[in-house]
Amino acid sequence: MFEIIVTICLVGDPDICRSQLIPGHETHRLDQCESKLTDINSRSLTINEAEISVGRAACREMPDGLSLIEVEPGVFVHLGAIDEPNPSNLGDVSNIGVVIGESEIAVIDTGGSRKVGEDLYRAIRTISDLHISTVILTHMHPDHVYGASVFADVGAKIVGHPDLKRALQDRGEAYHAGFSNLMTPAGFLGTALAMPEPAPSTLDLGERVLDLDVWPTAHSPTDLTVFDRTSGILFTGDLVFHEYAPALDGSLRGWRTALDMMAEKRATYIVPGHGGPVLEPVAGVAPLKQYLGVLEADTRSALERGLRIGEAVEEIGKSEAENWELFELFNTRNATVSYTELEWE
Ligand SMILES: [Zn+2]
Repeated sequence: MFEIIVTICLVGDPDICRSQLIPGHETHRLDQCESKLTDINSRSLTINEAEISVGRAACREMPDGLSLIEVEPGVFVHLGAIDEPNPSNLGDVSNIGVVIGESEIAVIDTGGSRKVGEDLYRAIRTISDLHISTVILTHMHPDHVYGASVFADVGAKIVGHPDLKRALQDRGEAYHAGFSNLMTPAGFLGTALAMPEPAPSTLDLGERVLDLDVWPTAHSPTDLTVFDRTSGILFTGDLVFHEYAPALDGSLRGWRTALDMMAEKRATYIVPGHGGPVLEPVAGVAPLKQYLGVLEADTRSALERGLRIGEAVEEIGKSEAENWELFELFNTRNATVSYTELEWE
């Protein structure tokens, strides 16, 4: 298959460039692709950032996309790396789902950069040429949302929790600076947020209905899960972490309650936001439940003993260190959130 790309460069530093996919023009033969170029080059391409220069469009053979595993007929999962975003993974550090109905396709989360979104798009195009109608974002964190703009370019609706848009507006600048720094400006070039609208409660993909449930503040203030009625698979977003250290950016008590309520969904399997990527619903959540339980118990003990926050975060959750990758990166912040929350009860 062939695709159309443009070279984009930083205006302030023309050595920093990358090839950006213009999705929606894939063809089987090179001459078919080239026949589209005149039309594309006659339009002025706009890329969301003023500091980016855009070259002429060109055709090339489509590179390989992300690896997708078909876990049930029509349900595909991509396992993100258990790692921080960096220049080699370019933000491919969270799980992604693709659900294909009889008439359209839904994507669940999109990775942490435009590049991950492009590779996801390529992978989907090798599986199906149905319309990708909807991108469902499970929450606000940048490692889940930054690939969405690729799908917005081909007319997909971007949807999420009703508060997601405002959360992204509030944090967008900080996310952009942080991720650009982690991945280097070249890797992150062309990445921009695609703003979501509130998700419907159900989505019919043609003989396949998804339930989209919004949650009170738990892992984050914008959590949403996706349940595929056909397969019984529940995409939990970051309401479930597996192997990858959990990050608490909402409410500890809210998160624990949400996990208890999630059991009522009676999913056949769950796809967590990190790790897995396919878990048995009770055993798969058990390590996270244990971690959050320890976090709460340790925090209450520290508060009872009158420890100040600086001393408390030195001990809260530490017994869990062996059970999680990247533990040091997240536990201190989780302890801080937990202490601040429980201190005022
Ligand atoms: Zn998250």
